[in-house]
Amino acid sequence: MTHDCIFCKIAKGEVPVERRICENDSFFSIPDANPATEGHSLVISKEHFETSLDLPSKLGSELLDCINETASKLMKEHGADGFNVVNNNFESAGQVVKHTHFHIIPRKKGDKTPVPHLL
Ligand code: AMP
Ligand code: ZN
Repeated sequence: MTHDCIFCKIAKGEVPVERRICENDSFFSIPDANPATEGHSLVISKEHFETSLDLPSKLGSELLDCINETASKLMKEHGADGFNVVNNNFESAGQVVKHTHFHIIPRKKGDKTPVPHLL
C-alpha cells in the first residue's frame, strides 16, 4: 500500500511547490496554499509524523531554527511587525493534513485576521 500524504510528497519533491523558504536536515517551509494573511507559510517535517506528539525531542532545535528563520524572512518580505505560530493537533483542534506542520502567520498591526487565542 502506498502512503498517500501530500506533505510527504512535497517533502520528497514529488509534488512541486513555488519555493522553499527555509530548509534544514529535518524541516522545510513552504507558502500555504490558502493563506490567512500575506506570507502565511507552513513549517513541515521531512519525515512523516502525524502530530507534534510524535516528533522526537531531539528535533526540537532544528524545528525552532526553521520556525525562526521562516518567520524572520517572511516578516521582512511582507513588512509585517509580528507573527503567530499555530500547530493544530487532531481533528477536534482543526488538523486537516495528518502530517505535523506549524503555521507561520505574519501579522500587521490592525489587520483583520483574528488572533488565534481569541478564535
Ligand atoms: P491544518 O488545518 O493545520 O491541518 O492546516 C492544513 C493547511 O495546509 C491549510 O492551511 C491548507 O491551506 C494547507 N495546505 C494543504 N495542502 C497544501 C499544499 N499542497 N500546499 C500548501 N499548503 C497546503
Ligand atoms: Zn506525511
